[in-house]
Amino acid sequence: MRLVLVPMLEDKNTVLELAGLLSRVYPGVAVEVAGRVAEPPPGSYDEARGQYRSEQILFTAAALREALGAGAVLLVAGVDAYADALNFVFGEALLGEDVAVVYTPRLRPEYYGYEPDKGLFMERLLKESMHELGHAFGLEHCPNPLCVMSFSNSILEVDRKKPAYCTHCAAKLRARGIMVAEEYIL
Ligand SMILES: [Zn+2]
Ligand SMILES: [Zn+2]
Repeated sequence: MRLVLVPMLEDKNTVLELAGLLSRVYPGVAVEVAGRVAEPPPGSYDEARGQYRSEQILFTAAALREALGAGAVLLVAGVDAYADALNFVFGEALLGEDVAVVYTPRLRPEYYGYEPDKGLFMERLLKESMHELGHAFGLEHCPNPLCVMSFSNSILEVDRKKPAYCTHCAAKLRARGIMVAEEYIL
């Protein structure tokens, strides 16, 4: 499986660093960063809310997967987005369709008035990327609050869970041909 990360209004070095982490999480997956960047699709910005519509960005990610001939795509977007009934989302995915998006602004400590902290930001970005890729690879939400597949509605919940899949979620990924490294299993 070839997983391609595509930056959208996000620093390429951040995406390269994330690619390095994800290649350790999934040893059998070839993780690379696309040579091109993606732009938010026309009409995806909601001026009244000052946010992007996640659904439209997700469609862009799906189109990129086709265009790049990738096994899976993770769009790393430096924009804030919302979906349906949720006033914001940390990310979204097409369940079982190998397409995922993560949104970075609300993962940054400075969003909440704290000092910038690169290590904390990267840990949150890794967790949310593992969460959305889990959905993209067919996993649903997990009742284990420490599992990376548990639903996070706030940054506190993101910080509470581990950058690791529980044994049940890891087994489901394995059944789908995605191996998870031991250190990323609870
Ligand atoms: Zn989820
Ligand atoms: Zn789980």
